[in-house]
Amino acid sequence: MDRDKVFVVGSGLMGSGIAQVCAQSGLEVALYDIDSEALNKALKNIGWSVAKFVEKGPLKEDKDTVMGRIKTVSEFSDAAASDLIIEAVFEKLDLKKEIFQEMDRLSRPGTLIASNTSSIPITEIATATRNPQRVLGLHFFSPVPMMQAVEVIRGQSTSDETILKGRRFVLRIGKEPIMVNRDVAGFVINRINFPSTMEAMRLVEQGIATVEDIDKGLRLASGRRMGIFETGDMVGLDVTYGALMSMYQETGDPRWFPPMILRRKVKSGELGRKTGKGWYEYDKDGRRKTQETT
Ligand code: NAD
Repeated sequence: MDRDKVFVVGSGLMGSGIAQVCAQSGLEVALYDIDSEALNKALKNIGWSVAKFVEKGPLKEDKDTVMGRIKTVSEFSDAAASDLIIEAVFEKLDLKKEIFQEMDRLSRPGTLIASNTSSIPITEIATATRNPQRVLGLHFFSPVPMMQAVEVIRGQSTSDETILKGRRFVLRIGKEPIMVNRDVAGFVINRINFPSTMEAMRLVEQGIATVEDIDKGLRLASGRRMGIFETGDMVGLDVTYGALMSMYQETGDPRWFPPMILRRKVKSGELGRKTGKGWYEYDKDGRRKTQETT
């Protein structure tokens, strides 16, 4: 099965990116969100990004052809006709479980149900379904249209067939699968990256270096395209916070407890690009102002 019809739940940063890469690969996409404003914003952002891909060359089809494969929906009914469902709602276990229960009820038995969770073990999400064999993690990285890796994550009951189909789907959309054989919180890439992200936050907290200098240093000394804080603002400080808390709760290991500076920023609503302020400030068009906020 080639996963021709995809139902994406949640049209935020990740859901809209996932919808875009699926449509660019010829798949039909139904994009669902509880918030109609989020759906409008997603279509606008996807249109802008697809136009850039067409303009710069990698896309051989025109924008309208790609956009014609994406429909926004405000009901779950399209899930019944889908080959693959990908959930990308907020990083909250109860919310994800609600969605999975509904998707399990509505979809055909052969449909795969995947979560894009950053850190919640797939096994826990799958407990909301009657068929955990068809539940897996497909963890994309942002910005989705640019980042080539997708973690394919096996939960406790995920079948070999599901993993194989998940892997094939990732290749079909032109990405590279990174196979994660056990769903430890944080999976593989975040587990490696988060210690340096937290160390950077602590260096700022202790007044040892500024946000801007750390980002500049990482770009110039480590060959990164974006600094840790620039990436953090794009990802969303709440997303990083949620992922760290899941890892802390699952392992009980204090090294994953989010630094105070991150907790304070999240509590005060400084979530990054999406709120206009995070580690840096942004104008209403999402362009960065010159000074960091810390
Ligand atoms: P986001 O806040 O940009 O978008 C979440 C969307 O979910 C919103 O549009 C919201 O309206 C929608 N939503 C909330 N409740 C819903 C419901 N009941 N039904 C349908 N839609 C609902 O979040 P995001 O950054 O796209 O993250 C989504 C998921 O992807 C999270 O689990 C996150 O941990 C994970 N993730 C995020 C990143 C990242 O860089 N931001 C990277 C990898 C994985």
